[in-house]
Amino acid sequence: MRIILLGMPGAGKGTQAQIIEEELAIANVSTGAILREVSKSKSDLGQKVQSYVNSGQLVPDEIIIEMLVQRISKDDCNNGFILDGFPRNIEQAKSLDQAGVSIDLVIYLKILEEQIIERMSGRRIHLASGRSYHTTFNPPKVDGKDDLTGEELVQRSDDKPDVIKKRLEVYFNETEPMLDFYKNKDIQFYEIDASEPVKAVTEKILKIIN
Ligand code: ADP
Ligand code: AMP
Repeated sequence: MRIILLGMPGAGKGTQAQIIEEELAIANVSTGAILREVSKSKSDLGQKVQSYVNSGQLVPDEIIIEMLVQRISKDDCNNGFILDGFPRNIEQAKSLDQAGVSIDLVIYLKILEEQIIERMSGRRIHLASGRSYHTTFNPPKVDGKDDLTGEELVQRSDDKPDVIKKRLEVYFNETEPMLDFYKNKDIQFYEIDASEPVKAVTEKILKIIN
């Protein structure tokens, strides 16, 4: 099963991908998490990636497409994968076709902009694993600590009001037009209401998959 999760930043893609990864035993591939890991490095590439991520812009296609293709060619993707954060523009969507990667299902998590701000401003993540929490809607068992490792949770450097604004602008200009690319493609496309609580959204996704 090869699934693409689409939706505005903060719609809940990472949260749902984490759950589906466990439910279906498929790999959870988050380009945002990959890039945050790369941006920790002091190398030229790390610093370059960091400057794009921290300013809310998309990392150039030639960098991210290669990283993604390499990532999904790893053994843990043999059973399938769920893509969170890729593709983010039409060029990236076409690159999957060009690389001969077939997709079974596209699920679009639909949500209003007003809710996004609330979700992103309360988001806390475990940097090493990419696990995502929310101070109110999806709190960790122990305040400020990752449920599995007990390590510190952090606020993402791009979850600040001015960067959130930029990310939404990029989403509307570059990512949203890509929805039509998939709607017009011979591929299963489902739109679900992502404004409901985490569990309700998961149930809808699992119903589609099953
Ligand atoms: P994305 O990967 O789409 O950017 P996340 O999965 O990181 O979004 O979710 C953004 C924030 O909203 C996180 O803090 C997460 O805990 C929270 N969240 C995710 N899904 C829901 C939901 N259905 N209801 C309320 N909060 C949610
Ligand atoms: P995310 O974790 O999906 O919210 O992504 C965080 C940031 O990583 C984005 O704002 C971009 O700067 C970068 N990013 C993630 N995925 C991509 C992608 N597919 N193409 C370009 N940049 C990306």
